[in-house]
Amino acid sequence: MADYTGKKIAVATLGCKLNFAESSAIARKFVQSGFQEVSAYSSGVDVCVVNTCTVTEHSDKKCRNIIRRIHKLNPGAIIAVTGCYATLKKAEIEAIEGVSIVLEQDKKGSVYPRCLELLEGSLCSPASAEHIFPACSFGERTRSFLKVQDGCNYFCTYCAIPYARGRSRSVPLDVIEAQAKELSCKGVKEIVLTGVNIGDYEGGLLPVLKALDRVDGIERYRISSIEPNLLTDQMIDWISSGTKFQPHFHIPLQSGSDSVLARMHRKYDTALFASKIEYIRKAMGDVFFGIDVIAGFPGETEEEFDSEVSFIRDVIKPAFLHVFPYSRRKGTLADRMEGHLPEIVKTARVRVLEDLSDSLHAQYRQRFDGSLQQVLWEGRVKGNPKLMGGYTGNYLRVERSYDQSLIGHITEVEL
Ligand code: SF4
Repeated sequence: MADYTGKKIAVATLGCKLNFAESSAIARKFVQSGFQEVSAYSSGVDVCVVNTCTVTEHSDKKCRNIIRRIHKLNPGAIIAVTGCYATLKKAEIEAIEGVSIVLEQDKKGSVYPRCLELLEGSLCSPASAEHIFPACSFGERTRSFLKVQDGCNYFCTYCAIPYARGRSRSVPLDVIEAQAKELSCKGVKEIVLTGVNIGDYEGGLLPVLKALDRVDGIERYRISSIEPNLLTDQMIDWISSGTKFQPHFHIPLQSGSDSVLARMHRKYDTALFASKIEYIRKAMGDVFFGIDVIAGFPGETEEEFDSEVSFIRDVIKPAFLHVFPYSRRKGTLADRMEGHLPEIVKTARVRVLEDLSDSLHAQYRQRFDGSLQQVLWEGRVKGNPKLMGGYTGNYLRVERSYDQSLIGHITEVEL
């Protein structure tokens, strides 16, 4: 392997946990061949990879601004742009001054060799793109994100991801296991499984969960997000049978109105969603539910929105809502629908859902006041270095005075 000691690599990442896991894997390849990893906004950068996101128009704009800023600071640097935005708007990104190469989502695995080719000034034939690019993050010592799947076959009407990341592909089980073992050897205690549509893992996700549960040294697992129709009763029964999978589920609801769900082409209705939540609560008790919701889908009426709010508040009662205003994505079916709502209406609905989330989270937390919980300590609190933070199994954030010896350890704490 060539030695690039003295060269500097920077990776700027936008978007989801999957992107962060992939960026971490890309940076590692450069570091292994001698590069020093630095911030994207430092000077003297030789190669900068920008891993983009296109979830909203705002993300597109942010990506363009970041690329321009990097080029201004490092006019001689090779700038390689990849990710979802790079896949959907390749020409738009190629037109930005300073961009050396744009590699679509399916070519993410060849970012490293392509950048080296450019660095050496030899634009030889492109390296073959990997069908699926395995990745895991290793930024923190205690918690890592491990990619198990990529792409999606669902084509929900609001979503551009299937066009950007392509159809569903699964990381082979032996590769996932090997990566988990490697993370364990590095001292990681908790792994979060990531993917675009994890539940669509080829052959079913349960064998993956079972194999990971057997990896020595990893004490906790979480699933970053799973479609409700793919979270099977067998999976819930097995998770609740005393495994390392924590009482924490992140499940996208997107709307609490059946008519809106139908227009979104989601593969469930509110009855299925509610029965899934009830099944989990019966099996595992008062687990932490983080729920994704989109406010202001085209044509969403006051009545539909009100029924969503009451479904969430009175039936689902999650611990947290991840609220997104609906954002038009070119090429999607929803973009061509009638009844796009004014920004002011979307913003007001976002506010209602965020307030609901605050109150549900406070209620959930309160139910654990005085209880004893196992906390995995992570590191210093941003903005207050005298404190350190960690999470309980059911994803409650806990802070205490900083003690370096606790990092990566689980201790019992009275909340
Ligand atoms: S399940 Fe729907 S929202 Fe999720 S990535 Fe696939 S198409 Fe997009």
